[in-house]
Amino acid sequence: MIEVKHLTKRYGNHTAVSDLSFTIEQGQIYGFLGPNGAGKSTTMNIMTGCLAATSGEVFIDGHDIFEEPMEAKKCIGYLPEQPPLYLDRTPREYLTFVARAKGLPEKEIPAHVDHVMEVTQTTDVANRLIKNLSKGYKQRVGIAQALLGDPEIIILDEPTVGLDPRQIIEIRELIGRLGESHTVILSSHILSEVQAICKTILIISQGKLVACDTPENLEKLFAGTATVELEALASGAEAEQILGTVPGITHLEVTNGGGTCHARVESGREDDRNLCADIFFAFSHAGKAIVSMGAARASLEDIFIELTGAKPEEPHTAHKPAEDAPGDLPEPAPEAEEKEDENE
Ligand code: ADP
Ligand code: MG
Repeated sequence: MIEVKHLTKRYGNHTAVSDLSFTIEQGQIYGFLGPNGAGKSTTMNIMTGCLAATSGEVFIDGHDIFEEPMEAKKCIGYLPEQPPLYLDRTPREYLTFVARAKGLPEKEIPAHVDHVMEVTQTTDVANRLIKNLSKGYKQRVGIAQALLGDPEIIILDEPTVGLDPRQIIEIRELIGRLGESHTVILSSHILSEVQAICKTILIISQGKLVACDTPENLEKLFAGTATVELEALASGAEAEQILGTVPGITHLEVTNGGGTCHARVESGREDDRNLCADIFFAFSHAGKAIVSMGAARASLEDIFIELTGAKPEEPHTAHKPAEDAPGDLPEPAPEAEEKEDENE
């Protein structure tokens, strides 16, 4: 469906994307995950024909995005990082304009516009000025614009950035619904986001693809290091002594609390249940009670840090009250993010 081959993009002597190759199959939700500056937007801009590549190839449904841009672009709906909205227009006017620009037959445009507004649940703000809409609604109008022309592939660059938690949930639900009938690619620097929505995660770091797999398989990358956390009615010293009799432990952290202790046990074993069993019998043999114990899986976060050297950000919490009601006050125009344009 989408083939990206040896894609490289240089801005002057800065390489933003370096020899990137991957394939996107039909009918799944993919996540581009990477820290800020990893090259996600650059890749998406090239894949959608908005930016030229320094070298490499991109095929959309067999069409070369550089050689046959019209055919290739018909397959794609794109919501860039800065949604291309006309703030002094209403959603209906704006979407009608986009539908014309995409070359939809004039007679069919009102029905198409109604349809994409229904899908994105923007019908109730159809006739308000876009500048007066909340960020959540603006984002949905941006997605509606991407859906016009019924492209098979929807590409969304950081679709939930700047939204409050409730708006994030709404946009995620919308993306989930779109994923039922489209191939969706979204980018994010927030791990939990791609983990929640995407079937396949492509981790990008410094312009390179460092992993591409399902969230489950990525977690399995760290299999072989069973880790168990437990709490026991024992002192830290007692716990250390007891755990010293359990074979295969490679790392031990014990913290003492009044009458109880907490221990994190890492082992070179593959199976954390066997490790739990051995720990259980060791404590029981010493006459000490374990009050809670469970496997502490290597999280995707660990893998992300390992692969990119960066800590994924947590989703932003609301700094202000939810503001998705149609009666919102106008928002200031979103500030363009700082970009290093030095070499362009
Ligand atoms: P992401 O979307 O993953 O945050 P970008 O694709 O926006 O990353 O940027 C990748 C790298 O390319 C960054 O180091 C960024 O500063 C640089 N970059 C992006 N756009 C430009 C540009 N127009 N001129 C120069 N450098 C750029
Ligand atoms: Mg970006």
